[in-house]
Amino acid sequence: MQIAQVIVDVPTRQTNNPYSYLIPDTLKDQVMVGMRVEVSFGNRKVTGFVVAVTNKSEFDGKLKPIDSLIDLAPVINPELLKLSSWLADQTYSFKISCLQTMLPGGMRTRNQKRLIAKDDVIVQQHPEIFHGHQEIDYNQKRADDKTVATVLKLQRAGQIQVVENLTHHTHPMMLKAYRGEISPATAQSALAKVRKNATCQIKLLDLLMKHPNQTFLQSKLTADGITATTLKTAQQRGWLKKTAVQRVRNPFLRPTKPTAPLQLNADQKRAVDQINTATTQRADQVFLLEGVTGSGKTEVYLQSIAHALALGRTALMLVPEITLTPQIVARIRSRFGDQVAMLHSALSNGERHDEWQRINSGQAKVVVGVRSAIFAPLKNIGLIIIDEEHDSSYKQSDNPRYQTRDVAKWRAGYHHCPVVLGSATPSLESRARAMKGVYQLLTLPHRINRQALPHVSIVDMKEVATKRQGILSDQLIDAISSRLKRREQIILLLNRRGYSSFLMCRDCGYVPKCPNCDISLTVHKDTHTLNCHYCGHKEPIPMVCPNCHSNRIRFYGVGSQQLEEQVKQLFPTARVLRMDVDTTRRKGAHEAIINQFGAHQADILLGTQMIAKGLDFPEVTLVGVLNADSALQFPDFRSSERTFQLLTQVSGRSGRADKVGEVIIQTFNPDHYAIQLAQTQDYERFYATEMRVRHDGKYPPYYFTVKVTGSAANENQTAAEMFGILNFLKDRLSSQAIILGPTPKAITRINNRYYYQIIIKYRKEPQLRSALDQILMDSQKKQRAGLQVAIDNEPLDFM
Ligand code: ADP
Ligand code: ZN
Ligand code: ZN
Repeated sequence: MQIAQVIVDVPTRQTNNPYSYLIPDTLKDQVMVGMRVEVSFGNRKVTGFVVAVTNKSEFDGKLKPIDSLIDLAPVINPELLKLSSWLADQTYSFKISCLQTMLPGGMRTRNQKRLIAKDDVIVQQHPEIFHGHQEIDYNQKRADDKTVATVLKLQRAGQIQVVENLTHHTHPMMLKAYRGEISPATAQSALAKVRKNATCQIKLLDLLMKHPNQTFLQSKLTADGITATTLKTAQQRGWLKKTAVQRVRNPFLRPTKPTAPLQLNADQKRAVDQINTATTQRADQVFLLEGVTGSGKTEVYLQSIAHALALGRTALMLVPEITLTPQIVARIRSRFGDQVAMLHSALSNGERHDEWQRINSGQAKVVVGVRSAIFAPLKNIGLIIIDEEHDSSYKQSDNPRYQTRDVAKWRAGYHHCPVVLGSATPSLESRARAMKGVYQLLTLPHRINRQALPHVSIVDMKEVATKRQGILSDQLIDAISSRLKRREQIILLLNRRGYSSFLMCRDCGYVPKCPNCDISLTVHKDTHTLNCHYCGHKEPIPMVCPNCHSNRIRFYGVGSQQLEEQVKQLFPTARVLRMDVDTTRRKGAHEAIINQFGAHQADILLGTQMIAKGLDFPEVTLVGVLNADSALQFPDFRSSERTFQLLTQVSGRSGRADKVGEVIIQTFNPDHYAIQLAQTQDYERFYATEMRVRHDGKYPPYYFTVKVTGSAANENQTAAEMFGILNFLKDRLSSQAIILGPTPKAITRINNRYYYQIIIKYRKEPQLRSALDQILMDSQKKQRAGLQVAIDNEPLDFM
């Protein structure tokens, strides 16, 4: 008897333990650990992951059989299986969601078989038939009064050679050319006149005759203009045979020229040496590579990856979604060629599946990807790199709410390899660990070629705003004009965090809100709708105020579309490109914009955060930040850190080649330390200042934090349950723990549910784990009454 232990897709606390299922005889010896299966659970059919195969079960009732196997091969390897348990613990989430998170999008919900791209290989059946001896002219046969059907019958019976089919299906001119009776050129000119399908058949026959015993990919043949119908006919006649093969989709849009490693400068060399030593010694050391923008961090990554590969090991490099620009991918591919696989959200499900397969099979040795690529099934990892380690995209905002850096450290421990966290503006957590010696600090203090950092100036928008309307200050307008005259390039950044365009009535102040959520609707000019970014609600833009019927209902706030309009009005001859979620939705659009700007086919690139990072355009000499402080308004203890990081990053875009850059920051808070220190790009002082703020406010990295969010359909009930949780926590935790709340969340109502939160700040609370487990367990029982609890371990914000 074979029994499979299955983690079923029923998210409850109980199902964190596997359930036993009988492996039926039909699936005997096929079910393996790490495969997905379909099983009955209660009266439902659910999917599940096989986590063990045994021959006995703890369960003494009658076991249900497995209904079917979803995968052809395991999709979760033993390392990832182990990691999933740790992850579930670490993030207080269900094992099933951890296992699902590890699979690339598309594979989570789909049958593996359906994601495999198939192609047909054309195999010649009887190449010799085209070279038979007993050639009988078909036309002659016809003259002998034989019908087409008779000819075919004779052929099938083997009485005549198939070459007759040539006369039947081939233009006589071509046949004559084959026989050497006329020149190919004559045949060709005759063929130019023949019907399309005949041309098609001729092409195919020509190919088969010229390359006997060769196989062809159907996709290649169809690309060459041989239609599927022609192939089908040929197959029916027995000229060829088709077999299916697996095709690998290639997500790389363009081939790259190989490049050689650069000669490292002294700082780079020191960093590479230390990392490589750790890789050689199989030490799971964490390095913090702190280097100003343009200091050559990427070259350090590349040469460390090369070292890991030389040792026969693999490498994983993560970048934030928005910086997964074609530029960085091209640099990595130019060094490591086809050994590189990439995983990110712009790939189709099929492409992602194929890349994942190449990694899983060991074909791909270097993986470049975004957050979720931390689960890439690489074996024998020799190095893990997290570029822009401070970026908020490394924390997953849904279950399981993991921090990628932590998962990286776990995998490094498993594989005995170093982790490199790279940034110009490290997170306070990482920098603090480096100061304590937990991480090893590596610094690249200078830009390559000792280029000067750009000159940064601050414009106080309070003064500008009183003078006139508009989003561009005179200083920025003048600077743009002078660059345009010198034919240099300009980047304009609109900080969109919490800054969207909404509608407001000038007469009564009415702002259209979402009927389901406590949030104003955002204007989308392209679809002429007001959209809710939380629940997806959409409605048409009203022409008059629904409240007072005034027609003075106008847009407020600035979106990148409005910015584009203003810039075009001010500089009608400038070539402007816009990059935001709306213009980059289509696959490849992001790359197209970057290439266009990189080729200097545009003067101004404007857009949201997307343009801030990772881009390297030598012709850019001016960067304008239009609303530097919109993030500072947030009730978020990390808003200063985010603002400083963003401004430093974006300033790094200016003056990267031989020209000195300039940065103009427009702000309503010119005296804020995050803005002041971004002006001088003084990370040291920012770190010191911000650490004091964190210390005094008892924030990370001085304190650990947990956020407990509860929601229900009724606000009073939510609040009451959350007070219950508060009292429970006060009981269980020490008096050192700081428990804040419950408070309604910044956006209290989303999709008609009410959200309240409790924040716990602590230094050492041995009881915390069991207390939170208890809360989850209790909430599950109460779930029928409607309270849902979510726990965020080390949340990014307190909103
Ligand atoms: P970062 O990742 O720190 O922003 P990059 O690695 O992109 O910096 O380096 C900035 C520029 O300097 C790139 O164009 C890169 O090719 C170049 N560069 C890096 N290291 C060297 C080196 N050792 N010698 C010459 N050029 C280098
Ligand atoms: Zn809504
Ligand atoms: Zn009104």
